[in-house]
Amino acid sequence: MTLRIITHRCDRCGTIVGGNVLERNRTLKCPGLNCSRVHEFRELPADDREYLTSQTETYSIE
Ligand SMILES: [Zn+2]
Repeated sequence: MTLRIITHRCDRCGTIVGGNVLERNRTLKCPGLNCSRVHEFRELPADDREYLTSQTETYSIE
């Protein structure tokens, strides 16, 4: 099995958010400076969400 690192790129400031962080928190205020965008897990493509959900117990990056 190949490990994939899923990321989500903010469409306002370009900050990269880890998909696993979104999976854990479901919603996350953008960590980008002066950016008020709120990222949501459901914004990720369906296959990415499925992958992250299946990896939750064995794999995480901070
Ligand atoms: Zn942002």
